[in-house]
Formats: sequence, C-alpha cells, structure tokens
Amino acid sequence: MPSTPAEPRDEKLWKRALEIHRKAIVIDTHNDVTTPMTNDDYDLSGPPPVPYRTSIERMKQGGLTAEFFSLYVRPWYVAHGGAARRTLDMIDSVYRAVERHPGDLMLATSAADIRRAKKQKKIAALLGIEGGHAIENSLAALREFHRLGVRYMTLTWNNTNDWADAARGEKKHHGLSPFGEEVVREMNRLGMLVDVSHVSDETMSDAVDVSKAPIVATHSSARALSNVPRNIPDDLLRRIAKNGGVVQVANPLPPLPISKLIDHIDHIVKVAGIDHVGIGADFDGAVDMPEGAQDVSMLPNITYELLRRGYSEADIRKILGENFLRVFAEAERVSRSLSKSISGDGSLKRISR
Ligand SMILES: [Zn+2]
Repeated sequence: MPSTPAEPRDEKLWKRALEIHRKAIVIDTHNDVTTPMTNDDYDLSGPPPVPYRTSIERMKQGGLTAEFFSLYVRPWYVAHGGAARRTLDMIDSVYRAVERHPGDLMLATSAADIRRAKKQKKIAALLGIEGGHAIENSLAALREFHRLGVRYMTLTWNNTNDWADAARGEKKHHGLSPFGEEVVREMNRLGMLVDVSHVSDETMSDAVDVSKAPIVATHSSARALSNVPRNIPDDLLRRIAKNGGVVQVANPLPPLPISKLIDHIDHIVKVAGIDHVGIGADFDGAVDMPEGAQDVSMLPNITYELLRRGYSEADIRKILGENFLRVFAEAERVSRSLSKSISGDGSLKRISR
C-alpha cells in the first residue's frame, strides 16, 4: 500500500494514529539541535534559530517522550585540539536547558528514567556523543562522559579516528583497532550504548563481534534502498538483529515523501525483524527532510503511515520506542554483570601519539 502525500488524509485513521501515538513511548535517538543550544545559547523555547527546527513546543506536538541530544564534535577539533572540551560545552547546554525548563524537560540516563518521564508528562533529555574522537583516545575521558550522563557514543562520524574507520573516511584500521575494541568493551562495562551509524562496514562488523551488549544504529537507513556508504547492508542488518540490537531509521535524502522513510522501516522489518527497528530522525542534522517529517512535531505522521500499511498497535509501539528501550535496558543489564566480573582496570589507558 504505497502512500502519496497528495492523497487526502483518512480522518478516522488519523484519529486512531493520534490515540496510539499519545499512549506510546516515542523516542528519537538523534537530534543535532545541541549545536545552536551550545553556540547561540538557544534554550529550546520560542522559535528555533534558522535553519534549526526543534523546540519544546514542537517536541510536545510530536508526542515525543525522549530525545537524544547529539553531542556532535566537528573533526576540526581533532586537528586543533579541544574535542573533549567541546563535548563538555555541549553537555552543559543540555543541562542548562533542563534547568531552565524543569516543568517540560528532565535529564534521563536510563530506560527507567524514560518511562518515568512519560508518567510525569515530561520530555526525557538524553545525551549521545557523535564521533569517537570526542574522548581524545582516553578511556578515562570516556568514563567521565558516562558519569555526566552520556549513554551512547557513535564510534565515528564521517572521519576515521585513531581507532575506528568511518564509512566515508580512510580505511586505516580495517574496522576497529585493538584500542577500538577496548573502547567497545569499556562502553559495555559502563552501560554506554555502542552506536554504529556513520562507521564503515568493517567497523560495524567488528563492533557486533566485540560487543557483549546489543548495539544500536541511532540514525541510519537501509543500503538496499538508498545506496550510500553510511547506510546498512542487509547482511549487517541481520547480524545486528542476531546481536539483539536496533536500527533507528533516519530520514533518507534528498526531500522525498514520508512513504520513503516508511519503505526503509518496512525493509528493515523484512530483513531484520519487527524487534530491530526504531526512529532516529536526525532532525537538525540533515538538511533535507521528507515531506511530512520535516521536524519533530510531525512524528505522528509516521504512526499514521505505519497504520496505513497495516502495522498493528503493538508493532507500532515497538518501532516508536519499545525496541530501543529493550536494547537500552539490556545494555544496563550487561553493564551490571560485567561490572561485577571486571570492575575496571582504573588506569588512564590511552593511545600515545
Ligand atoms: Zn550523523
């Protein structure tokens, strides 16, 4: 049942979509609005500074339960220094937004926190690092970021770093270096989700092999439908499913009807299964968004389109948030079991350059 935006809305179905959507836990695992929050002191109230699109008002309209604020660190900081400090500055901007809007936002660091936010009718604000160069090759810095509340790290952005290859970067390590494997193990021990969006196929494959916890792709799509290096090929979709992980579907480029986004969800459901797909919209990160999903207020359109294609309420709830919550809780469980057995080496282990 392919949809076209020109078709008039089925009002009965729309009402049903809104009902399901408002009840569900709705999680978006990647939003880049943290950049103007940090640079321009934008606190998410009022209209967002152009070209950004996220505000508290729009998050509420979108029925969002939890937003992962992306701590995106430009590769510029690798050359000039200060990647870890930039990450700290971005974390501070999210903390301050939460402090300014205690009635609307709450800082969240666990799956239980997200459910609590839903009960309290607040938006859970979570932190995720985009680009492993943020830790400046220091496991101690990684641990500090975890203490501050960071709950996922995208192993690379478009740039290959000292321990992992990126999809669009130089193939330097053929996946994860030995230190990169150590980073993944330490993330497992801490309970920080391993995010494979942007990484090369070899890095993704290594991450699946090394990680003891299910992994996530916080904003990726299916390569079979959109052949770009950062999207995930079918064989890796299957391996992520086997590992128990989840692929959070990002908006495909360039501007396309929302049905294209749903096509990616459909494909991943077919290849990996209904338990392994979610939403990672990449709002305020990508420039072009599909018609009907240009900003966070439009998330109910996704629920409507899924209903149109015959997804059940239970399946829609999985896609909107329950799959991610399962993976998050499992990573927490793995962390608890590993903390007992390993208890950390406590060293300032780092790559000497
Ligand atoms: Zn990204």
